[in-house]
Amino acid sequence: MKTERLYYNDPYLLEFDAKIIEARAVGDRLGLVLDKTAFYPTSGGQPNDLGMIDDVPLVDCLEDEASGNIIHVIEGSVTGPSVHARIDPARRADHMQQHSGQHVLSQAFVELFNWPTVSFHLGAVSCTIDLPADSVSREQAEAAEDLANRIVRENRSVAIRYIAPENISEAGLRKPTDRSGDIRVIDIAGYDRSACGGTHVRTTGEIGPILITGIDRAKKQARVEFISGGRVLKYARQANRTLESISQTISAAPFETASAVRALWDEHQRTRKRIEDFESELLDYEAAQFPVSNGVAKATFKNRGIEKLKMLAVKICARPGTVVLLADEGDQLRVVFARSADVAIDVAALLKKTLERFGGRGGGRPNLAQGGGLTGSAEEILNCAHEML
Ligand SMILES: [Zn+2]
Repeated sequence: MKTERLYYNDPYLLEFDAKIIEARAVGDRLGLVLDKTAFYPTSGGQPNDLGMIDDVPLVDCLEDEASGNIIHVIEGSVTGPSVHARIDPARRADHMQQHSGQHVLSQAFVELFNWPTVSFHLGAVSCTIDLPADSVSREQAEAAEDLANRIVRENRSVAIRYIAPENISEAGLRKPTDRSGDIRVIDIAGYDRSACGGTHVRTTGEIGPILITGIDRAKKQARVEFISGGRVLKYARQANRTLESISQTISAAPFETASAVRALWDEHQRTRKRIEDFESELLDYEAAQFPVSNGVAKATFKNRGIEKLKMLAVKICARPGTVVLLADEGDQLRVVFARSADVAIDVAALLKKTLERFGGRGGGRPNLAQGGGLTGSAEEILNCAHEML
């Protein structure tokens, strides 16, 4: 026996009674098959409803493709044989706005540019449709958005119809369907007809505003990200708060923040470059003054960072006849070994021997090698390497 889908004919039904016809394990949870349900199971790009079954939370609702049954996964157990169920109204209303919004927006792209929607995804934050277009410009997106919002304002009726398979080719569907049996069609008066099993609003006005929030270009396909209804208000509030905060931080009028931030960023890049130049000059100075005893420069640092350590080692090696053994104690113990061009010692081999003794990983070339994760005191490690020279 197939589960009767109450949401097919009444998406506004939020409470119902049903009989349990089967209870099965779904992972370590209980899955109920009911004789009828108003819970929407995940399908067609729309996620499942949530809610309560006899005051036990419903955590998932899925379709068993083979039997056509709907499995209600709950976070506990119920006694049966009948249950009383309630659907989370806010989640259902949100999904109706997003899914109906999608039908309206998808048809707008068909009417204006002849781009049929290839796939639809209703996400927790935003929704996406994929269009068979190499690119969608901002102007094209706004034109589709304008048409979609006009259809919303016209408050057209959204009807649920069932069309026999033999009549489906004359039904004027936006996209052909491969479903068998009577086809459920969502009919937006004078605008769009789509085969769909989703939950939809009664009139387009209930969708509320439709806003495109992003366009991603992929190969031969464009992904349009959008939101509808309550999500648009939430988005606008958040965007406004963000803009307000940036505006206060940088003391610029909200709509002038983009160019002001750009100018700050450019300045930051220039400053960073200057600091790097200064640091390099400081390292030159440090390297020139660095104490070298019998051709060996040996020192231990704290949190100097591996890159700075390597730069210093290379600069010290500008002096002929020098071997450099440096260690840095930070999140882990690191070492850098280097030598001048005129010295025949292979510091990568020296590092290998040192790692064999003190553990850790690393490698390099005969003139410059680095390692990390050694165990022992920095001084002891460097002294040992020094002895092995
Ligand atoms: Zn649909």
